[in-house]
Amino acid sequence: MTDISIRNVKVLDGTGSPAFEADIEISDGRIKTVGSAGAAALEIDGLGAHIAPGFIDTHSHDDGAFFRHPGMAFKLAQGVTTVVAGNCGFSAIPADPSVDSARASGGILAGIEAGFTDLDGYFAAVLAKGPAINNMMLVGHNTVRSMVMGNEKRAPDARELQQMYGLVEQAITQGACGFSTGLIYTPGKWSQTEEIITLAKAAKATGALYTTHMRNESNRLLEAVDETLTIGIESDVHVHISHHKAAGKPNWGLVKESLQKIDAALGRGQRVTLDVYPYTAGSGRMIEYFNLDNINRDFAEVVRIAGCPAFRHYEGRMLVDIARDEGVDIADLVRTILTAPKGDRTICIHFTLDEADIATNLRHADMMVGSDGIPDLRGRPHPRLFGTFPRVLGKYVRQDKVLSLPEAVRRMTSLSAQTFGLLDRGKIEPGYWADLVLFNPETVIDTATYDEPQQEPQGIHTVIVNGQLALQNGQHHNTGSGKMLRYRRAAYGES
Ligand SMILES: [Zn+2]
Repeated sequence: MTDISIRNVKVLDGTGSPAFEADIEISDGRIKTVGSAGAAALEIDGLGAHIAPGFIDTHSHDDGAFFRHPGMAFKLAQGVTTVVAGNCGFSAIPADPSVDSARASGGILAGIEAGFTDLDGYFAAVLAKGPAINNMMLVGHNTVRSMVMGNEKRAPDARELQQMYGLVEQAITQGACGFSTGLIYTPGKWSQTEEIITLAKAAKATGALYTTHMRNESNRLLEAVDETLTIGIESDVHVHISHHKAAGKPNWGLVKESLQKIDAALGRGQRVTLDVYPYTAGSGRMIEYFNLDNINRDFAEVVRIAGCPAFRHYEGRMLVDIARDEGVDIADLVRTILTAPKGDRTICIHFTLDEADIATNLRHADMMVGSDGIPDLRGRPHPRLFGTFPRVLGKYVRQDKVLSLPEAVRRMTSLSAQTFGLLDRGKIEPGYWADLVLFNPETVIDTATYDEPQQEPQGIHTVIVNGQLALQNGQHHNTGSGKMLRYRRAAYGES
C-alpha cells in the first residue's frame, strides 16, 4: 500500500517549469507517482497549495546545531529539508576529541559533542540524535589548518601541506561535498593562494566543490573573485562563491562587476556557482571585524550585538545605543566586549549591504539561496536563520517580482542538488526521495525580525522529509527522518 497520497496541489517540480496539477504518491521514502493517487495509509489534502521539492540551504553553519537542536525547527519551518554545513572554512570534521573545536571556531561550531574524528564518525553521532532534516558536509580549511599548524602566520612546509591534504582527502573520500575556505578568518587568512590550490585538488577525485568565503567582500571584492577563479582553474575544481556581496556603502553595486567576471568565466567553460542571503545585514564573529589597536568607528556605528556570552544584556542592541546609554566611548565599548572572558565568542550583525545588490544577485541564473544563519538560539541571531527561504518567496518573488516562482524554486532545489551532489533529490519525479514542502505562494513570508528573530514563517504548512511527515500546520513531528548525505552517493549507512 502507498504510504502517503497528496491531492489537490499544484506541482512545482524544481526544474523551473510552471506549476501543474497532479497528485503525488509516496512509498518507502520515495516519490512513487506524479499523476493520480490511489488510497494510502495517510492522505493529505493540499487545499490548493503548491508543492515543491524540499528547499536546500547551501550555506549553513549547522554542524553543532544537529547535536543541540536535532529537531532543526528553524530550518524545517522554512521548508528546508537539507542543509550544507561546514561552510566558511569551519567544519565539525576533522576533529581531535581533545581539542574544543567550538572554541577554535569562535563559537560558530557551538554544540558539537566530542567523540568522533572523521566524517563517518560525525555522521553516526548526528544520526544517533534523530535529526529532523538531511545534512551534507564540507570539510573546512580553517579547521584543518588549525589542527595541523595551530595559528601559525606563515605558509605550511611540505610535511604540513601533505598532512592537511590528507585530512581534506579523507573527508572527500568519505563523502564530503567539498572543501570550504573562510579567507577573512583566522587562520585561513594566513594562507597564500598556492596552499588553497593544492588542497582544493583533493576535491577533484569525486568531482566535489571548492566553496569559499572569499578573502575580501568589500573594496577588494574583484581581486578576491579573481583569486577564486584562479583557484578553480588551477585545481580543476568547480568553485562556489558563498554569500556573494559588496559590503560598505562605497562598494555597493560592485556585485555587478563581480558577476560580469563570473559570466566571463562561465563563457570560457569554467564551472562557477554562487549563493546569497536576502538581507542587507551580514553577521559573524565580532572579533574578526575589528582591529583592537585601531577601532573603526564608522563600522562600529552599524553594528548590533546578536549573541554575547560576556554581556547577555547587550544582545539585540546597537553599539551606538549601548554606548550612549552607558555614557562610554564606542571604541572603548568594542574593546570592553571583545577582551572580556568569552568576548571572542561575540556574534554581531552589521548593516553594511545594499538592497539593490540583493536583487542583482537574485537575478543571476546560477545564484542559489543560502541562509548563512548562525544557530545560536540563546541570543538574538540574525533573522536569516529563521526567515531566508520564505523571504525570497514572499518579498523577492511575490512583492518585488525580481524572479519568477518556478525559477526561485529551481534555485532552491534542483540547481542546489545538482551542484552539491545530492543523489535523487531536488526534483519532484518518480524515484526521487520524497523531500517535499507544501506552501501558499500568496501568503508565504518571513516573520523573523532583528528585534524578534526567533519566529517561524507563515504560509508553509506541510514538510515531508524522506517520505515522513515532519511538519504540519506549525506542528513539528520530530520524526527524526533526516539522513546524512554523501556527495553523489547513497546516504551514510546505506549502500
Ligand atoms: Zn562566510
